[in-house]
Amino acid sequence: RTPSAYDYPLLIKNLFTAPAVSNPHQTIVYRDLQRFTYADFTQRVCRLANALTAIGVKAGDTVAVMDWDSHRYLECFYAVPMLGAVLHTVNIRLSAEQIIYTIDHAEDDYILVNEEFLPLLEQIKGRIDTVKSYILLQDEQKQVETSLPLAGEYEVLLNQATDGFDFPDFDENTRATTFYTTGTTGMPKGVYFSHRQLVLHTLAGMAALGSVASQGRLHQKDVYMPITPMFHVHAWGLPYIATALGIKQVYPGKYLPEMLLKLIDSEKVTFSHCVPTILHLLMSHPLFKQIDLSGWKVLIGGAALPKAMCQAARARGIDIYSGYGMSETCPVLTLAHVTTEELSSEEDLEVRCKTGRPLPLVDLRIVDEQMQDIPADGQSVGEIVVRSPWLTQGYLKDQRNSETLWRGSYLHTGDVANRDQHNYIKITDRIKDVIKIGGEWISSLEVEDFLAAHPDVVETAVIGLPDPKWGEKPVALVVKKEGTGITEKELLNYIRGFVDKGLISKQIVLLKIEFVASIARTSVGKTDKKLLREQYQQ
Ligand code: ADP
Repeated sequence: RTPSAYDYPLLIKNLFTAPAVSNPHQTIVYRDLQRFTYADFTQRVCRLANALTAIGVKAGDTVAVMDWDSHRYLECFYAVPMLGAVLHTVNIRLSAEQIIYTIDHAEDDYILVNEEFLPLLEQIKGRIDTVKSYILLQDEQKQVETSLPLAGEYEVLLNQATDGFDFPDFDENTRATTFYTTGTTGMPKGVYFSHRQLVLHTLAGMAALGSVASQGRLHQKDVYMPITPMFHVHAWGLPYIATALGIKQVYPGKYLPEMLLKLIDSEKVTFSHCVPTILHLLMSHPLFKQIDLSGWKVLIGGAALPKAMCQAARARGIDIYSGYGMSETCPVLTLAHVTTEELSSEEDLEVRCKTGRPLPLVDLRIVDEQMQDIPADGQSVGEIVVRSPWLTQGYLKDQRNSETLWRGSYLHTGDVANRDQHNYIKITDRIKDVIKIGGEWISSLEVEDFLAAHPDVVETAVIGLPDPKWGEKPVALVVKKEGTGITEKELLNYIRGFVDKGLISKQIVLLKIEFVASIARTSVGKTDKKLLREQYQQ
């Protein structure tokens, strides 16, 4: 069929009309440094498009950004794909070697770079040859010396650029973004998303977060601030959702606990999202106790929300709950909606800490190795496999891993979960983190949840290490509260209490406790179990 006037492509440009129309006076804030309106924002995006075009950016090019969370990043989220170019959000927390690998592998043509990362790029200049020129990102304009071919400084280029831009129409399946997994299993792998995928992810996210079913958790009166980086899975797609909803947005720059808490307080932030370890960091800061958090809604994802953390946050009046997704899935697949008010506080806690229910348009199954659905009894476990309109088609230039990802027409997540009769799923582990003792599977997340609830435990990670007799042996790495005299024996007795109640498998009696000063993290702040297994195996 030849395209007709009725064919309206799902392009990011068609989402971009919303903020200017619905809420031109709404504010966008960058740290304690800058604030402007949505009307300014739309003008700045057009100017950025003109500036990028002037330096040579054209459809099909890859434009990379190396920045902390900023208003500039938000502008790139729109201007770059709307030109038909691909936005590469570089994970600046990877090692230098991995950063070079991702820039080279994605074949970046242009890089917008925060001055903080100039030394890194200068060091590796000879090793990346696709990049034609760079745009400098600065909070304060000052002269910098660099041997890189700079096209100019972002604000200067925007000032020089003309107003308005007639963004073209093109195929909605055009690639819009690309970025790399955090490389916890080998070198990072590139995933990619089209305009159509991002638009549908945005609409489903608006529907799921803003709907009555989720108690209208995101609406016009909210103030949004991301605490999962914009370089990682488009900050879970929330900047697109918040902009389309026309709500006030706050971009905090580099994640410094004090700055984050100050912004929550001064800008009256009501909606954020983060991984549990980052929330833990905020909760441990002295300012956390001093500010009013009763209007703060926090979506936790990237790792399971520990019950103890949920309880502590609820005690401060925070509306905390889980969501689930991965780099390969754009990311959001489920949200843990509390759909009824009539829950006891224990049930309420249970629901918030589950992994949630699938979003509209997400076909999520939990299957055994023969791809048969496991019973929805809240006990049986299998692998989560999914289909939805916003999953990566594969890994960039990597057919072998793409074929492992997509099997039997479903994307295989590598996550183990159960499903209850109300359709809530609960991830019990990642396949590679499950501890297999004498043929039995122990959920490392469950044991962590019990340990984290102990008053003398600050943080914990439970891993399986090879054992000649049992196959694997569970080890709990525990950061204990300062000044406590808690011993391994006492913690083991505490865990035995749960075994006696039938809540953990008897095999956990093999558990060894190692008290440690800290627990290794990935580039996005999650527990790095692969690294921990390598460290403690020795
Ligand atoms: P990485 O592979 O480096 O962790 P991702 O951000 O893609 O990078 O992580 C996705 C994974 O995080 C999922 O496959 C799952 O194992 C885990 N995850 C995400 N959300 C949750 C959740 N709510 N509960 C438990 N695990 C989660």
